[in-house]
Amino acid sequence: MKPYWKRRRRGVARARVDTLLDIAIETYPTDLSLAETYVRRALAICQRYRVRRPLLLRRLYCRSCKSPIFPGRTSRVRVRPNQRHLALTCLRCGSTMRIPLGERRLRGEPEAGGESA
Ligand SMILES: [Zn+2]
Repeated sequence: MKPYWKRRRRGVARARVDTLLDIAIETYPTDLSLAETYVRRALAICQRYRVRRPLLLRRLYCRSCKSPIFPGRTSRVRVRPNQRHLALTCLRCGSTMRIPLGERRLRGEPEAGGESA
């Protein structure tokens, strides 16, 4: 078991990451560069305090060039129903990330378990 202050620090870090993501989502339609700063900071906090990256954060940065991406501004989101995935394209480097869509997800039903990606 880790000392209590280390565990507490990670709790604080997790809350701070959530807040940063909230304001990043609020800010990106009006101030893209500020929103990018928030995402970079959230990523840095996750690394520094060994906190698992929230699903939202994993969708907000490019896995290939590590830059923050926002749907409609710096990334393109396309649904590929025939191939059963969502294609998330980074408009900075052009790489695509595939987010699998389960059978039940396509029908709009909640899926048991979490998301794997
Ligand atoms: Zn990229």
